[in-house]
Amino acid sequence: MRAEERRRVGLATVALSQRYAASQVSVAAQAAALVLLLWEQINPFASIRAQWEAINDQAHSAVAEAQRDAALMALAYLQAHADACGVPDSDAPVVDVEAAVVGRSQTGKPLTDVLRTAQVQARSLIWGGMAPDQAWQRARSTLETTVRTEVADAAREVLNTGVSLDDRITGYERLVTLPACDKCLVLAGRFYRYSDGFERHPACSGCVHVPTYHVPGWGVIGGTPSDHTPDALATSLNPAERREVFGPEGAEAIENGASVSPVVQGRHAPPRRISRADKATAKRLGIEPGEINANEEGKGRSLRWIRARYAHNPTVLREELARHGWLTEAADV
Ligand SMILES: [Zn+2]
Repeated sequence: MRAEERRRVGLATVALSQRYAASQVSVAAQAAALVLLLWEQINPFASIRAQWEAINDQAHSAVAEAQRDAALMALAYLQAHADACGVPDSDAPVVDVEAAVVGRSQTGKPLTDVLRTAQVQARSLIWGGMAPDQAWQRARSTLETTVRTEVADAAREVLNTGVSLDDRITGYERLVTLPACDKCLVLAGRFYRYSDGFERHPACSGCVHVPTYHVPGWGVIGGTPSDHTPDALATSLNPAERREVFGPEGAEAIENGASVSPVVQGRHAPPRRISRADKATAKRLGIEPGEINANEEGKGRSLRWIRARYAHNPTVLREELARHGWLTEAADV
């Protein structure tokens, strides 16, 4: 492949990745909007629990459907990206979306339980003395984060596992779409091995995997453009946006020539009392160390734990996924 041709492929695939990122954001946002409409029906001055139980099934269906859409898009994106890069076909099996992620929380708990968290929070705030309408508003944002995260995680884990299962893929680079927070922006264009988890924080959106392939005779192709870097993205923001993302001090430092990475590191000092082992586990899972406890139950029960545990050994990963009934032949999708 000539250099010029490779560059054209590069631009076409970036547009594909950007469209995929936008569609993920919109599926998650639609699911959140639907569930929040249900939340609006609750009268915080009456029994919140009973009212939530009456609509929990509807909330569950809305989120499960969005997980299905998002995860199927992830499979389609993997296929379309490989096709756009012109890499030879693969016969690797793929994740059975319905079995592995739909109606499941990536923390390994039943989705229904996770969706109940917001009303539990509202009630405990009220017991703690907060005015019911204020507590109900506060818990609303918990519910929104939960829904967005569960929908995005379903797609992210399917994509991450797909990257590990596909032997043409060497890894992926992170495409960050603006607007993004500083924690995401600083990772723009970074390369991860096929076995690495996709670093995300709750409610993180708009960032996607862009696979890289090794094709005999061509070398490594795919990934993000070489100018997709934290510094270039920071420069592309206007001063007001930069203050929004990095805070006034961070923005000033960047405008005075500091590079993005140390500025962001300085804004998020690592929380204390997190063991090295927990940090390493969080990294493999792709979550923040503070989320470890919530994810403990997922051991052996969520796609995320299985992927994090076995992704470095794709043969064993296949066996484990097959044992759970979470694999299907590529042709069946
Ligand atoms: Zn983010």
